[in-house]
Amino acid sequence: MDNILASSSLVGCGRCLRETVVVLMAGVYISNMENEMKLVVKWSGKEYEICNLSESDSVATLKNAIHKETGVRPERQKLLNLKLKGKTPEDECQLSALKLKQGFKVMMMGSLEEDIADASAPPEDIPDVVNDLDIEDEEVAIESREVYLAKIERRVREYKINMLNELRPGKKLLVLDIDYTLFDHRSTAETGYELMRPYLHEFLTSAYQDYDIVIWSATSMKWIEEKMKLLGVSTHSSYKVAFYLDSLAMISIFTPKYGVVQVKPLGVIWGKFDQYSSRNTIMFDDIRRNFLMNPGNGLKIRPFKQAHLNRDKDRELLRLAKYLKDIVHEEDFNSLDHKHWEKYRPRKRDKIASKKEETHEENSSAS
Ligand SMILES: [Mg+2]
Repeated sequence: MDNILASSSLVGCGRCLRETVVVLMAGVYISNMENEMKLVVKWSGKEYEICNLSESDSVATLKNAIHKETGVRPERQKLLNLKLKGKTPEDECQLSALKLKQGFKVMMMGSLEEDIADASAPPEDIPDVVNDLDIEDEEVAIESREVYLAKIERRVREYKINMLNELRPGKKLLVLDIDYTLFDHRSTAETGYELMRPYLHEFLTSAYQDYDIVIWSATSMKWIEEKMKLLGVSTHSSYKVAFYLDSLAMISIFTPKYGVVQVKPLGVIWGKFDQYSSRNTIMFDDIRRNFLMNPGNGLKIRPFKQAHLNRDKDRELLRLAKYLKDIVHEEDFNSLDHKHWEKYRPRKRDKIASKKEETHEENSSAS
């Protein structure tokens, strides 16, 4: 909750709303003068006066009025304590039926995440690849295109990385997408926590033992930072994220099948940090085309959508944490085929090696 309040405190004015806030809180004061209603929407430390409402107006009219003042679209508004017989009133419900008292405070929440993602992300509605063979043919052609390599070189030179935590010698590299990978950014909820993919912190804690972690999302840096704060990733005590990459680190490429698309070329990281290469890097994303420049290093995960329905069932991150553990002894990740990650079995000697390490860790922590 603190995080939510923190993010709403960033807001300067109603107009800025669309760009800044994840979850909003508002207080609505209603005064009732002979059927005329004067409302004050209190939101993010500011008050917005709403006039020209009457008791015969509907909840929809109220929401439209709030929209006009705050920028929060009606369908994104959740007026928490506006109740009719204990239930959320329908949009058609008349305000008079709600019997609102003077000074009654309504808490409003509404995620604007969607608006922002829409505005800043490249389109995600490109159909996903049905036939893996099709895209393999394309990948070869794309990888050999010098113009894309030149773009990557320019990112290596010009894109500034803000290091959050030191890279650790000997670790492999894990690059993670956010939307639908770690977080269901399209569902609405009262807290960001509800939209977090199950086992996120367990997954990151486990991965961090063997991998430096990088977050790469096709949105703006400001939003990556907000999301990571909201999910408690940026402040977690059991793991640390090395740095974030945003949409500006991506490049656009042309594919005969999809036209111009934005992709996440790992070469940007490899060009900046010598210790990382295709031999020791793995990237998780729910969209395969993000791997087009480095297909062998991408693992397409199942997207986490409809958080409310799937929160109790989704085990993807637990299973992926195990895969990361299982492959950590591989000298060269190029020998792996991540498409068949679920069928991967560690070789016997690797199993023995990890067993030894575990025992060693237990012993040293016991002593
Ligand atoms: Mg995604």
